[in-house]
Amino acid sequence: MKLHEYQAKDIFLKYGIPVPKGKVATTSSQAATATFDIGEPVVVKAQVHAGGRGKAGGVKLVKSPGEAESFASNLLKSNLVTYQTGPEGVPVNSVLIEEAINISEEFYLGMVIDGSSKGVVAIASKEGGVNIEEVAEKTPEKIITIPIDPVLGLQPFQGRKIAYELGLNQENIRKTADLIQKLYAVFIDNDATLIEINPLVLTSDNQILAADAKLDIDDDSIFRHQEIKNISDISQEDTLEVEARDFDINYVKLDGNIGCIVNGAGLAMATMDVASSAGASPANFLDIGGGATEEKVAKALSLVLSDNNVKAVLVNLFGGILRCDIAARGFVMCIEESQNFNIPLIVRMLGTNAKEGIEILKNSNLNVTFVDTLEEAASKISKYS
Ligand code: GDP
Ligand code: MN
Repeated sequence: MKLHEYQAKDIFLKYGIPVPKGKVATTSSQAATATFDIGEPVVVKAQVHAGGRGKAGGVKLVKSPGEAESFASNLLKSNLVTYQTGPEGVPVNSVLIEEAINISEEFYLGMVIDGSSKGVVAIASKEGGVNIEEVAEKTPEKIITIPIDPVLGLQPFQGRKIAYELGLNQENIRKTADLIQKLYAVFIDNDATLIEINPLVLTSDNQILAADAKLDIDDDSIFRHQEIKNISDISQEDTLEVEARDFDINYVKLDGNIGCIVNGAGLAMATMDVASSAGASPANFLDIGGGATEEKVAKALSLVLSDNNVKAVLVNLFGGILRCDIAARGFVMCIEESQNFNIPLIVRMLGTNAKEGIEILKNSNLNVTFVDTLEEAASKISKYS
């Protein structure tokens, strides 16, 4: 689950990580009042679950409450499109009004779960700011990566090493090492998968501040973080993905036109590869999961079909705990409800009760083509490429 910048900064503050003074506003008049309270100049920042806001016109330095009001009113009724969003962008429902700071230097500081070191790594760079992706690509040697031992946690010398590498003076090394230690506590206590401060700022009056904040929490840990769950903003997420999550279906929307319905995450990925290798492209990742009921299967198919790009559905089921006859009944239930009898379903069913499942589909009015192998499946869907 992603948090907004202002929400992440609220958490930072609780851990003693310094952030600029700020207030969140959901209307333009609140933005004006906040500017007045904080004292101009301020920075008005669109709160969306995407980075790249600065370059996309979502961050602006303003010099009066009136200017804040008019900039906020434009932002608040718009969708912000950045290089990290789709072409439709994400809705701006709130803005953060922050005291403007005089930036002397901008650094990058982050922590992320890293598969290869099997733990958290801290990442930092002297070249922070809005072009960090370019730095990583063109001059990777300017990025410092420090693996953190999951048992020992972040060691004080590691924090000092990062701060030293950022080229800070003695006093600021101490402050920054302390900040890094607190950041690791935020990461662990909140079951984060990613934290980014970009930029971490050295101000002209020698303060170290988190000028931006990005915090992603592991979805599988949300059950033990009710206070975080309560502040989730689903307006920022794909509506189909939100719906899928309510039904405990693992669905990720993609851009292609072949819907995929599969049980098991590995098989689901293999199925997407099949669609791609046939020259077609998957419209989604979907893993129905083991113990699905007919209703859940019906819901899964209806989710896939509510994506208007979907021209055909590739069903790849290996019946185990989920029996093929139950899945077949679920498909029939969905199609009869939606009356969408034309949509081509390319079905591969193996395993528990596969024969019964195939029989149910054969006796239905659904537009089903059966295949035995993935090669056959690929050749059937290649016409949708
Ligand atoms: P992002 O583009 O979504 O990562 O948004 P950021 O919060 O990182 O803001 C983008 C850039 O705006 C930063 O890298 C800074 O250069 C600049 N910026 C943000 N806040 C301030 C501020 O208070 N004063 C000044 N001078 N620049 C700021
Ligand atoms: Mn940033």
